[in-house]
Amino acid sequence: MMYFEGKKYNVVTYGCQMNVHESEKISGILQDLGMTLVNEPELADVVVFNTCCIREGAEDRAFSNIAALKKCKAKNPDMIIAVCGCMPQQKQGKYDLKKKLPFVDIVIGTHNVNMLGAYLTRVVDTKKRVYEVVDTPIDLSENKTTIRDDKINAYVNIIYGCNKFCTYCIVPHVRGRERSRPYEDIKAEVKDLVSKGYRYITLLGQNVNSYGKDLNNGMTFASLLTKLCQIEGEFKLKFMTSHPIDFNKDIIKVMKREPKVAKCLHLPVQSGNSDVLFRMNRHYNIRHYNKLIKATKRGVKNVSLSTDIIVGFPGESEKAFEDTVKLLKKVKYDQVFAFMYSKRTGKPASILPNQIDESVKNKRLNKLLREQKFISKQMLNDCVGKTYNCLVVVHNGVTMGLTDGGREIYLPNDSNALENHFVDIKVEGIRNHKLSGVIKCQKSHQ
Ligand code: SF4
Repeated sequence: MMYFEGKKYNVVTYGCQMNVHESEKISGILQDLGMTLVNEPELADVVVFNTCCIREGAEDRAFSNIAALKKCKAKNPDMIIAVCGCMPQQKQGKYDLKKKLPFVDIVIGTHNVNMLGAYLTRVVDTKKRVYEVVDTPIDLSENKTTIRDDKINAYVNIIYGCNKFCTYCIVPHVRGRERSRPYEDIKAEVKDLVSKGYRYITLLGQNVNSYGKDLNNGMTFASLLTKLCQIEGEFKLKFMTSHPIDFNKDIIKVMKREPKVAKCLHLPVQSGNSDVLFRMNRHYNIRHYNKLIKATKRGVKNVSLSTDIIVGFPGESEKAFEDTVKLLKKVKYDQVFAFMYSKRTGKPASILPNQIDESVKNKRLNKLLREQKFISKQMLNDCVGKTYNCLVVVHNGVTMGLTDGGREIYLPNDSNALENHFVDIKVEGIRNHKLSGVIKCQKSHQ
């Protein structure tokens, strides 16, 4: 529409990688309308808030940031403010926003964000607000323009929604049930990204390991990875998020066999105690989780592991918390993303007995993070002498290799001729708390 030609936009994103990628698609919709990006919402003609409601904190932040634009809107009544994503999609979300933020022009949910262009046009044409949240999932058209923030890593959706219903999580309620994207669509997108020079392609979904179950054509996540590795070019595949009940030996075999699959795994455990896992409705116990970790370490050389942890889940005793700390010491993750349990009204966990005091949750989180800091330091020493296949990057004149797990290994500066290529790097030592190494040989993964 001509009206938007030359106008400025800004997208404010909250939450996970799925939202980050969705915002890249939103940018694509706005640029297709002729708009250009500005860095400050205050300077934009169209501001889109892509929201998250997994924790109360994220919601509060979004509410106050949207409210802060009220003054700008008063000065510039043509400014259009849109709110989309998980906040409006939850029950009451649309009504809460309508009541609390009456100056917002567009409120849409997770299922119809691909219609944003049409809703913007409608607001301009009719001068009326749009409050439309639909219950039936309409997948984003993946062929629309996507404005990607990163030049090295690109996200590709492979599955939407989730069937797991963890008792603390709102995602299945706001994103619907699992829907796998057809293989041919995924392949075409990955091929296109590789031809554009992206070196890492991250396959995205709330539970990527469930890929294919609803397609009824025999496709599994392991077979998807195998097929995508046949695409020509220098690149590696990453994936997130995995669920321990669907992550399996077939996937480990592909990780081991295929050089184009990155040697890193994000496997959220949430708690190191089986009773807590049961109350979380995670569908596995800690024995099962430990077996998966053992098989992954055995199968995938120098694999980098990361996880998510919730501390202070209802009924988490001191012993249950210590089980989680023990797990950290045993697994030795490269990265741990730990959060305090946040009570969400309407979720089964919010009415479980023995809710934990905020002060106790705080204490436990701090202890856990302290332990992880200590483990991370130790793990830096463990890297010395090992060889990792890394991507060579140059930042501000400094050359380094990035491992699949994101560790930086500093290289002699004359290695910069290999920028943007995968090479084997041997870690030789630690200088100023940083790894340093030398290139052993170049591996192209063509
Ligand atoms: S697996 Fe659990 S935590 Fe993850 S999205 Fe599904 S319900 Fe939420």
